[in-house]
Amino acid sequence: MSEVLEQLVNMSRALGDPAKPYAILGEGNTSARTDDDTMYVKASGTTLATMNEEGFVPVSISKVTEILDDPNAGDEDVDKVLKTSTLNPNETRRPSVETMLHALLLKYPEYKFIGHAHPVSTNAILCSKQARDIAMGRICPDHIVVMGHKSVYIPYVDPGLVLAREVRTQMEKFIDEEGVLPKAIMMENHGLFAMADSAQKVLNIFEMAEKISKIIVGTAGFGGPQFLSDEDIRRIDTRPDEHYRQKAIAKE
Ligand SMILES: [Zn+2]
Repeated sequence: MSEVLEQLVNMSRALGDPAKPYAILGEGNTSARTDDDTMYVKASGTTLATMNEEGFVPVSISKVTEILDDPNAGDEDVDKVLKTSTLNPNETRRPSVETMLHALLLKYPEYKFIGHAHPVSTNAILCSKQARDIAMGRICPDHIVVMGHKSVYIPYVDPGLVLAREVRTQMEKFIDEEGVLPKAIMMENHGLFAMADSAQKVLNIFEMAEKISKIIVGTAGFGGPQFLSDEDIRRIDTRPDEHYRQKAIAKE
């Protein structure tokens, strides 16, 4: 098994670990890029907790994202694209329905591993009436260190093609406005996407998102969260010692 695939298997099992509140049953999906145009993505019908090498399908990133540029394509075309973009000629497994999302994210060379799941406390926020305001705030320095100064927020839209197009649009907008790549995507009424250049960083983002979400839920009994100001956030995000901490945490 290649090193990347091994890391992907381990990351997937960690996200599906029954001791963690991230995914149950067939929930969640993961991927990793192995070269410019190849990604391994979780096969449909597999379970994160028990993932192994055979649970991943190699897919062409460019082929699977082509459909996003076709204005006439609809959900019925997605099936066809998922089938034709697999790289093994005799493939019998079907890549995850969220493959398009993984592929459009893995087009950014800075990302190598993608994790997606439905964490309980994070979804307590994302399925609430105040989802956007709460999910976009930052409450303490380590929150910023691990998850970045801001996340991408995706309002609820139809899953599948419409969602993939929305994610692409919001990613481009974020990069345009913020000048950096996001580390996490918060999806309203759905869940969390974490993107990084290592499997460990994806897991770190999940752990931090879930811890922060629990703290925020806890603040509900004391008047709600007190978010850091934009100025405080910027200060943490640009402090040299915090950059060092970001590097140190990544190595852990
Ligand atoms: Zn999902």
